Amino acid sequence: MERILFRPVKPLRINQAFAQNDACVSTDGKNRVITCDGNKPPVGFKSLYGAKGHLGVDLYATHSQPVYCALEGVVYKVDTDAKSGLDVRVQSTVDGQEYRHIYEHLLGYQPKVGDKVNAGDLIGWADNTGYSAGDHLHFQVEKYVSGKWVPIDPMDIMSTLYAQDIRSWKEILARGAELVADLLRKK
Ligand SMILES: [Zn+2]
Repeated sequence: MERILFRPVKPLRINQAFAQNDACVSTDGKNRVITCDGNKPPVGFKSLYGAKGHLGVDLYATHSQPVYCALEGVVYKVDTDAKSGLDVRVQSTVDGQEYRHIYEHLLGYQPKVGDKVNAGDLIGWADNTGYSAGDHLHFQVEKYVSGKWVPIDPMDIMSTLYAQDIRSWKEILARGAELVADLLRKK
């Protein structure tokens, strides 16, 4: 499978994999999140994800650690809700196939709705907003298939390259090209 996504955080460590079902949220209205067997939640709790399990991957991130865009696209939504906390949502098209990549539980965000973003651009900073048991990045990828957005395991299409490193290299190459152009002009 083609690896079109760049790593949004460094180092890349998975706290909770795609489709796993081992987080529960309290039903007392306090939204306390614990580790559990989501198929057999303890009394006073229900599965955080339901039967489908976790719709994204939870990546290790420290408080206020920068989160970078994994794939060139356009920001279509920035919002806050009880479950995902502050999230930024980006839509991309690769070879005619549409994808959405979603960054949840953020502390703050950088781009606005409608902004074009490149891989390696700052999306925001990691935190613990929404239903979350600690600082991390919930990274979710959806593919548009037969008229529906279907969550897929991002690890299946993620490259080993860090998005911010890609950006740095692009900047170094662009600066190199400018220097060469300057030298040619001075000849
Ligand atoms: Zn998650």
